Amino acid sequence: YTGKTTIQAIGASIKNKKVKDYKSIPVLVKENTSVYDAICTMFLEDVGTLFVVNENNDLAGVVSRKDLLRTAIGKHNLEDIPVSIIMTRMPNIILTYPDESLHEAASKLIRYQIDALPVVKPKQKADNNQKENKYEVVGRITKTTITRAYVDLGNEEL
Ligand code: ADP
Repeated sequence: YTGKTTIQAIGASIKNKKVKDYKSIPVLVKENTSVYDAICTMFLEDVGTLFVVNENNDLAGVVSRKDLLRTAIGKHNLEDIPVSIIMTRMPNIILTYPDESLHEAASKLIRYQIDALPVVKPKQKADNNQKENKYEVVGRITKTTITRAYVDLGNEEL
């Protein structure tokens, strides 16, 4: 035994957990997907948040359950409204990255009072190595992810 206190061991274990080790598969829809189809996708894929991508598969927005509910209680034809009208859009999306700590991602969920974060990789410009503000979505971190990590932590031998 290294002589670490239990508290230090728990702290080290929390900080060692990375987004890439816990992320789940993101559910993506296109910007022209109707609100009606988005609701169907949410049920079929059993997720609470959809990520919206443009024709180049860049992250364009986020649609939550309540975004869809709000639209559904209005007097609209849900098949005629694209999700791009109701989504929260870039650059106002809170992001996480594969190498970020799960603790930092969890802090963002709390700080911004949201249920999910897209895990993204910045896209490089084709002609040089500079980054554009364009992101490929490679995963999803949700409150369930954090709960799973919490259970793992409780099961770890410290
Ligand atoms: P719900 O709206 O179902 O309670 P959330 O709390 O996740 O779900 O979403 C609250 C609001 O924040 C919604 O309008 C949603 O579009 C937006 N939102 C959700 N996730 C993000 C995110 N990662 N970045 C920015 N905005 C988000």
